Amino acid sequence: MLTAVAAARTILTRLHEVMASRSHAQAKLNTVVEVIGMSLDSEVCSIYLLREGMLELFATRGLAQEAVHVTRMAIGEGLVGTIAGNVDTLNLAEATAHPDFSYRPETGEEKFHSFAGVPIVRRERAVGVLCVQHVEPRRYEEVEIEALQTVAMVLSELIANAGLVDDEDAWGLTAAQTGTERLTGLTLVKGLANGVAVYHQPRVTIEHMMAEDTEAERQRVYMAFDKMREQIERMAAQAEFGVGGEHEEVLDTYKMFAYDEGWSRRINEAIDSGLTAEAAIERVQQRTRMRMRQIDDALLADRMHDLEDLSNRLLRIVSGQLGTAASKGLRQDAILIARNLGPAELLEYDKRRLKGVILEEGSLTAHVVIVARAMGVPVLGRVRGLRGVVREGDQLLLDADQGTATVRPTPPLIEAFDARFAKSRERQAAYAALRDVVPRTRDGTRITVMMNAGLRDDVPMLNLTGADGIGLYRTEFQFLVSATLPARERQTRLYREVMDSAGSRPVVFRTVDIGGDKALPYLRHDGPGEENPAMGWRALRVALEREGLLKAQARALLEAAAGRTLNVMFPMVSEPWEFDAAKAVFDHQLEFLRQRKRMLPEAIRYGAMLEVPALAEVLDLIAPKLAFLSIGTNDLTQFLFAADRANPKLAERYDWLSPSILRFLRRVVEGVAAYPVEVTVCGEMGGRRLEALALLGIGIRRLSITPAAIGPIKELVSKVDLAEISQAMAAWLATPPPDMRAALVQWAAERGIECD
Ligand code: PEP
Ligand code: MG
Repeated sequence: MLTAVAAARTILTRLHEVMASRSHAQAKLNTVVEVIGMSLDSEVCSIYLLREGMLELFATRGLAQEAVHVTRMAIGEGLVGTIAGNVDTLNLAEATAHPDFSYRPETGEEKFHSFAGVPIVRRERAVGVLCVQHVEPRRYEEVEIEALQTVAMVLSELIANAGLVDDEDAWGLTAAQTGTERLTGLTLVKGLANGVAVYHQPRVTIEHMMAEDTEAERQRVYMAFDKMREQIERMAAQAEFGVGGEHEEVLDTYKMFAYDEGWSRRINEAIDSGLTAEAAIERVQQRTRMRMRQIDDALLADRMHDLEDLSNRLLRIVSGQLGTAASKGLRQDAILIARNLGPAELLEYDKRRLKGVILEEGSLTAHVVIVARAMGVPVLGRVRGLRGVVREGDQLLLDADQGTATVRPTPPLIEAFDARFAKSRERQAAYAALRDVVPRTRDGTRITVMMNAGLRDDVPMLNLTGADGIGLYRTEFQFLVSATLPARERQTRLYREVMDSAGSRPVVFRTVDIGGDKALPYLRHDGPGEENPAMGWRALRVALEREGLLKAQARALLEAAAGRTLNVMFPMVSEPWEFDAAKAVFDHQLEFLRQRKRMLPEAIRYGAMLEVPALAEVLDLIAPKLAFLSIGTNDLTQFLFAADRANPKLAERYDWLSPSILRFLRRVVEGVAAYPVEVTVCGEMGGRRLEALALLGIGIRRLSITPAAIGPIKELVSKVDLAEISQAMAAWLATPPPDMRAALVQWAAERGIECD
């Protein structure tokens, strides 16, 4: 290794002088090939650069000078084209023996036997090739290849600065050459989208490769390592652990790499060879990437993504390029690529440009997915190897309906996709036409179909979908998108606007449900970090302890609802006293307003969410206090199955159509039947046709669902005969079939009811 460092260092020192000189770019390249050829004791050294989509011989030592700017190869053609196409090194003792060898008589290369070439890479695309040739047939030594690779990195800077290669066009061409790939995953939010890949955490563009002061670069890397380790320790220790998408396993791997002596030593060695801190980090990463390509092991590949993540994090720290793609802004229709995201992170994106999301992790009821659903952004999750295949700027066709995404599609694939897209829009239009249709079952029972909302922009969906109201307004979304705790006046303004837009239709405001996967950076937790935030200090538990928070919200809601009916519900009620305590905060605020002779709401209806199974055991104790009960099946099922809703490993494990869930829900419906309490299901389950069918069958008559599902659910309702489905469900719940989902699918199919 030391010799590789020394070899690279000698060349880089000379290159430094060349690059600093005032000569013309072509003259610089001519000197560069001389310097490299001499240093590696190689008879030939040539540089090919991408121009007008072809690799053109730009400079050579050892080949015929007449061939310069004459010899051109397509990407994928000959050895040079193969290196660029695969973005990979070739090292051959006998060049002519390689199947891709293409003889170019004008170069006079026939006397040279050995050949080694490395791609010159810029932004992960090959923009040229640097190669050496020798008369004597021998494979180049590892140290020589390493030196060539380091030099190629530095050359990419010289080439870019001199504007010697094609710009965006060239990348399009190289990208096309690397071919179409199809990714599959789990549909998290249905829909189709066409856009370019944008990494949530963009790769850093390295502008300077060669160091002026090696010691200073070393210090920069040391400091970046310290900072990165600090960040990781903090992530692992914090209550938000598991929230930003970083799971325990990932953090363990991060930690392992962050303290890996070998990694920091290799970066140091690269700095010794004359690279800047950024270039050294990238160089080591490049080398690891090349090594890994030769190993076919999925588990190892996953770990490599972790190292890539970390390497990218280190690069961002060292270069100060800290923002996400959201902070840079989307410039065209984009499909966001990430391992995972938090809901607040997603909300930072420009909705007009964000067309889709593809995640390596993700689960159906994670809040980021709920937010995406509310935004109407399709999401594909659990895509293995995503970041190994997709590169920034690649065109992507996302078909979340079918759980696939096509990377770098060919024109016929784009055409077929466009046709599907048009069909899907037609279907959407058909659902939109149901806007004014009142949802009634075939036997005439009125079903209440409301929508879930949480963002100001969601509210217009009420009119577009013709929903019966907002059955769940997630007030915490305003808190999530704010940098600081929203002042009471801001809350009042928002609630008033929402009620104004809803007109006579009811809006059910849920008091803040923060914690779990909705952590607020500005609301610190005093105690120790939580191992299970979803079962921890969240929702009403926070609100009752931080009374100021609930007081302000209560006042804001009461003031906003002056002269009209206020519907308010409390999340995560586990025991009746919690409901009483929360209601007491409202009563107190109401009294305060009354004493000041302020206009009060005309009526206040209080409800509780049933999300914690314990509450189901005391329905008789709480039902008399309630105007309505809203079943939050997202949380409820995670607690019933003891399966973290945000854990991607469990995303596909349990089915909402399981006898346990359905029997549980039916018991709740029966448990409150004797009281004048409206029962609504407001979890994601209710927005899926097959699940909604089952819910109708167990007696649910009110749903609050994501806006995009209103049309499809209204249509479903119109086709269902309640007596028939109730009878079928009763039989299935008494003696569950081996596969409840399959039974329902068949039942629906026999009646011409299309289900997902
Ligand atoms: C639920 O838990 O089902 C629910 C509707 O609330 P949220 O998804 O916001 O936790
Ligand atoms: Mg919930």
